Amino acid sequence: MSEEKKKKGLFARLREGLSKTRGNMTEKVDVMVRENRKIDEDFYEELEDILLMSDCGMKATEEIMGELRERVRADRLKDAAEAREALKEIMVRQMDIPRPPLKWPMVMLVVGVNGVGKTTTIGKLALRFQSIGRKVMLCAGDTFRAAAAEQLTVWAERARVPIVKHAEGADPAAVVFDAIQSAKAQGADLLIVDTAGRLHNKKNLMDELSKRRRVIDREYPEADIRCILVLDATTGQNGLNQARAFKEVAEINGIILTKLDGTAKGGIALAIRQELAVPVWYVGVGEGIDDLQPFDAKDFINALF
Ligand code: GDP
Repeated sequence: MSEEKKKKGLFARLREGLSKTRGNMTEKVDVMVRENRKIDEDFYEELEDILLMSDCGMKATEEIMGELRERVRADRLKDAAEAREALKEIMVRQMDIPRPPLKWPMVMLVVGVNGVGKTTTIGKLALRFQSIGRKVMLCAGDTFRAAAAEQLTVWAERARVPIVKHAEGADPAAVVFDAIQSAKAQGADLLIVDTAGRLHNKKNLMDELSKRRRVIDREYPEADIRCILVLDATTGQNGLNQARAFKEVAEINGIILTKLDGTAKGGIALAIRQELAVPVWYVGVGEGIDDLQPFDAKDFINALF
């Protein structure tokens, strides 16, 4: 398949995945455009409601509305159609914190509560990088649940990448240690480390994550180490609370937002971006392998409108 065609296919998937949010958010803006609405206080109020109802969150909404009012004044915009274009540009700018370039070898420490799609996401990442010729290795760092390692093993087999795991109940820092030795010995480009998804209490979580982080820093100083938080878009404000909690205990370098296809409130992507000031690395818009896509602010907003 040509690159052009593949990109088109991916964009179509993204667009399809965002269809619920489009129905709830941008199509309501389109209605105002069709009605040829003038830009007045009623228009602003309605638009603000649309953003809030799509879970863009107070902060992002206020910022968007503030910028829009300024643009309307400065560029003398008159009707909803012009406002819609300005809105798109403002949203792209808000979302656009580019992901830093990937450097090899890299360790991705993947965190997030159970059920957000962490295992699936790790599997898809393994497939993605393996298919472009990177040497990938997985580490079953959630030693609290035997099922977690089993599930990850299925993905490792599917992606044909090695996996390092210990028995249930083992010290998670020890399995990370072993995985790093293997990754170094085999010259892996990317080591993806799963972590336990329990957000029990902050102190434990902090201890667990920092212990692991210390092992990686100490044993693998040549690697680029990134902590990636996986969030489930369908959990709305709850997801935002998880993000806050994780941010308090660890340095989060990137976000993967899953299940955007399952929500009409995809504005949560803007809220998360605004709240965390951390780049979104990937978005999940379905269960298929092509449904985990590198995040691009322009494509995302274009797919939404
Ligand atoms: P974990 O407990 O965080 O490891 O979650 P899993 O990886 O087991 O995923 C939980 C469920 O979410 C599975 O049924 C996945 O197929 C599903 N899932 C993951 N990502 C997406 C997504 O982007 N869209 C949809 N619709 N489902 C997803």
